[in-house]
Amino acid sequence: MKFSRTLINTIKDYKTEGEEQGLKSQEYLTRGGFILQIASGIYDFLPLGKMMLDNIQNIIKEELNNAGCVEVDLAFVCPEELWQKSGRAEKYGKELLRIDDRKGQKFVLSPTCEELMVELAKSKITSYRQLPMNIYQIKLKFRDELRPRFGLLRGREFVMKDGYSFHESEEDMLREFHLMEETYKKIFRRLELDFKVVEADSGAIGGSGSKEFMVLANAGEDTLAICKSCEYGANVEAAKRKPKKRARLDATTSEEVYTPNTKTIVELSSFFGVEAGRFVKAVVKEAIYEDANKNTPIVFFIAGDDELEETKALNASGALALLDIDEAGLKERYPDKNIALGYVGLGVECEYFVDSELLDRNDMITGANKANYHIKGVSVKAPIERVKDLVLVEEGDACPQCGADLSYAKGIEVGHIFQLRTRYSEPMGAKFLDKNGKTQPFIMGTYGIGVSRLISAIIEQNSDEKGCILPSSIAPYQVDIIVSNVKDATQFEAASKIYEELKNAKIRVILDDRDERYGHKMADFELIGFPYALIVGKNIAQGGVEIVNRRTLTKEPFSYENAKDELIKRVKGDLKC
Ligand code: ATP
Ligand code: MG
Repeated sequence: MKFSRTLINTIKDYKTEGEEQGLKSQEYLTRGGFILQIASGIYDFLPLGKMMLDNIQNIIKEELNNAGCVEVDLAFVCPEELWQKSGRAEKYGKELLRIDDRKGQKFVLSPTCEELMVELAKSKITSYRQLPMNIYQIKLKFRDELRPRFGLLRGREFVMKDGYSFHESEEDMLREFHLMEETYKKIFRRLELDFKVVEADSGAIGGSGSKEFMVLANAGEDTLAICKSCEYGANVEAAKRKPKKRARLDATTSEEVYTPNTKTIVELSSFFGVEAGRFVKAVVKEAIYEDANKNTPIVFFIAGDDELEETKALNASGALALLDIDEAGLKERYPDKNIALGYVGLGVECEYFVDSELLDRNDMITGANKANYHIKGVSVKAPIERVKDLVLVEEGDACPQCGADLSYAKGIEVGHIFQLRTRYSEPMGAKFLDKNGKTQPFIMGTYGIGVSRLISAIIEQNSDEKGCILPSSIAPYQVDIIVSNVKDATQFEAASKIYEELKNAKIRVILDDRDERYGHKMADFELIGFPYALIVGKNIAQGGVEIVNRRTLTKEPFSYENAKDELIKRVKGDLKC
């Protein structure tokens, strides 16, 4: 491609603002002319962005096809009725964009495609002989995100690879899940990313057993608990730890203690003269359900030196959301419940859950469920269905696998694989005939990759203060031939010749043939981040050119004869990694 013929408009002055301040991917993708913002969370992909998307998609497709997956292209507009059948129509809330057609029929813009894919399987896969089957697509998705932000990292309209596998048995689904984990690792390695596979929460889609692929970058919205000694890593939403080491105390007789105006763990700790871990801390939330009549306060009991992990609490409650609630809110909306904030303890007369590490601990101190009183000498007991893992795993906690210290890292979620089982096939009646002639619901897995998000994630990991540093695997052009002075016929002809040769050698190459200053062309090269530049300047008279490596910004002289082979060698070398 000739620079003069393509649509690349770089912008000099553009600064990210607000939340996006300092977000390099957003600044460079906009300044480099990869994308154009149309509305909040909605972008046009310009030629450079579109080529990046295509290159990422090609790598994904190659690896998936190699692993035996088949590609389809499902409708983007999905009848809402299917979402009613799966039970997600209400659960998904406002992120789901709903539309009515002229006849008043209801549709949704797919945020993921479980429903459509299950419908497809239902009508086309009838026998165990057709199983297993792994079907995927790479397609636009729409989520009316509450806070679209960070450019392509959290768009409303975005490109996702979504795949769904169908099996006759649990074992076969687990085999495929493992195969997809390995396939995803190959994909992200080919994209030259520094990533980590972590245990994850399964969120609104449901199912259990899920892993996320996290690109390690400070711009990430997710916090990961990572073990430096072993492979263990988890999103904090799902992280586990070895139970905290605590002294085993004997059971004692309980006793009510007058604790005037002593509500917080810090105040209590100094009042009783014992460490925070000896208290049963009560965190009160208001649980919001689809049916507002079910809304209720819930108390989560954890040790005084722990924090509540909100996603774990949400999963325990089965609610749509958990909100903070104060004394006034409790009085107004739940006047019949006796919840003495600051003095809430075990035995409270409302919904509650107890953290598993609290169970069976003796000689604890808990609220007495009346103002200004606590009870000491309490043994923690609870029915098993009330006992859940509720705590936030913190830095320094012990790895659940090897016991070494865990630490935090920030990650961008670029992939997510789930063991769905019969979460959709059962309610939607998607069944096949098994070997014995009996009908069974499909056992399913689902596998997603954030394709457009990957563009930003790659740049978050590959950039410097001048611009992007694109990996050769996905760079729109791997070599940028910069003609220093296009009016100089020797320079221009030499550059044009090597341009044709590199094209013939299947290198993605762009010839900067613009009648612009050399400095301007170099600045564009640095901002866009093509992996290599070949500078054809005055030295061509003596048969000399220069190769610039974008990552190191080193400029090396080469003879014109050798430059082509050197560039081919470098690009091919990059692709082997
Ligand atoms: P997140 O937690 O970031 O909101 P999610 O867990 O809701 O994502 P999934 O339903 O697992 O997302 O979707 C599969 C993949 O699609 C994610 O791993 C992510 O890479 C990508 N993705 C999800 N939401 C967006 C978005 N708003 N913009 C761009 N990519 C997205
Ligand atoms: Mg996810």
